[in-house]
Amino acid sequence: MEDTRVMIGEVSQHTGKEVQLFGWVHSRRDHGKLVFIDLRDRSGVVQVVLGSDIKGAGDLRLEYVIKLTGKVAKRPEKLVNDKIPTGAYELQATGLEILNTSRELSMPLDTDGREIGEDTRMKYRYLDLRRERLARNLINRHKVVKYIRDFLTERDFVEVETPILTKSTPEGARDYLVPSRLQKGSFYALPQSPQQYKQLLMVAGLEKYFQVARCFRDEDTRGDRQPEFTQLDLEMSFVDREEVMALNEKLLTLIVTKLYPEKKIQETPFPRIAYKDAMEKYETDRPDLRKDKDDPNLLAFCWVVDFPFFELTEEGGWTFTHNPFSAPKPEFESDLLEKRNVKDIIASQYDVVLNGWEIGGGSIRNHKPEALRAVFDVLGYKDTSQFNHMFAALESGAPPHGGIAWGLDRLIMILQNEPNIREVIAFPKTGDGRDLMMDSPSEVDPDQLKELGLEIKRK
Ligand code: ASP
Repeated sequence: MEDTRVMIGEVSQHTGKEVQLFGWVHSRRDHGKLVFIDLRDRSGVVQVVLGSDIKGAGDLRLEYVIKLTGKVAKRPEKLVNDKIPTGAYELQATGLEILNTSRELSMPLDTDGREIGEDTRMKYRYLDLRRERLARNLINRHKVVKYIRDFLTERDFVEVETPILTKSTPEGARDYLVPSRLQKGSFYALPQSPQQYKQLLMVAGLEKYFQVARCFRDEDTRGDRQPEFTQLDLEMSFVDREEVMALNEKLLTLIVTKLYPEKKIQETPFPRIAYKDAMEKYETDRPDLRKDKDDPNLLAFCWVVDFPFFELTEEGGWTFTHNPFSAPKPEFESDLLEKRNVKDIIASQYDVVLNGWEIGGGSIRNHKPEALRAVFDVLGYKDTSQFNHMFAALESGAPPHGGIAWGLDRLIMILQNEPNIREVIAFPKTGDGRDLMMDSPSEVDPDQLKELGLEIKRK
């Protein structure tokens, strides 16, 4: 039999023809003799007219999953619904099959959901994601990621997956720990970023790496943070800061012009601001440079550069401002090696800022072991044995290299005009780190704890 299955978004191309539609009952109006429903699939919504002769028509309820056969017809001029793209068409049903029923919904799905409490939306996230807005966020997120993958692949980048079960490293946040069963009393840490692995891939000779990488940071609640989030992580060998910045600027610009043509980039090349000037002029290192903040389609990118490498801790020692693996700018190399004028050493760090959000940051790295050693000396690390592998690698023909990581969730949040990253993450966590749908974190079976050699101390 001929397959006449079509997506709802395409019905206009099948006027006058018999088609099959699959989808969910989005809304329903029962007029006795005639039942009207709006049928929804991923591509859209269309009105369906079911006569009383259609078996099961009267049984339909919201979110029932159905298969329909029928003829696509143009609606009379004055009944055209110009709010939806398929509003000039309807399906006149000739057959109905109910594929599944649905219990009564825990929240309405015919709105954009912003008026509904987030706890409900998270608990029933699989329903929340049926909303057009949320589905579009996921689909457009996919398009951005695919564009990035294609762009980087064309330029000889290799996508490499790095471990999730790894070791605690200094990225400035608290680690998530995973107990080891085979090495009782020992723990893996979930990666705060693939920083060390990507540098080790440069030592391995890969030259151009990227990854759409999941990162984990156990930080206290903040609106735009999630315990797990996604970075576009990349690293390149034999490059200087200009080359890394140029590549990223090009990719960001293309994402906007190709995938979000309705948006306007305020200024290209992206303006550059030294950290010191940003602090003096805007009192922040992520200034919002938009000339018109009411325009949701205006994108003001900028680079913030020339960050101090070190800052004083409360105890009077030094800590790194971004990344201990960063190199200083070339003209400060000897100061670092001599541990001279520490407070004036400028890092090769570059942050990319969009509409007041930091959406990425990176640096050229110390590829010589003595430079990394000097950083740890300034930081006052007495025991650097946890970095022995990094020193051994840097002593083994490490090429000059540098890279960047983007906060992908944030970028997509801004491009989708969403107020927070939870709206562009399929299954986000609450502000206090819970997955309300799965009810996680949760207690575990005492046997599991025993196997891990763990005991819970209750106060
Ligand atoms: N690993 C750094 C971060 O997560 C980014 C980078 O320097 O590439 O912030």
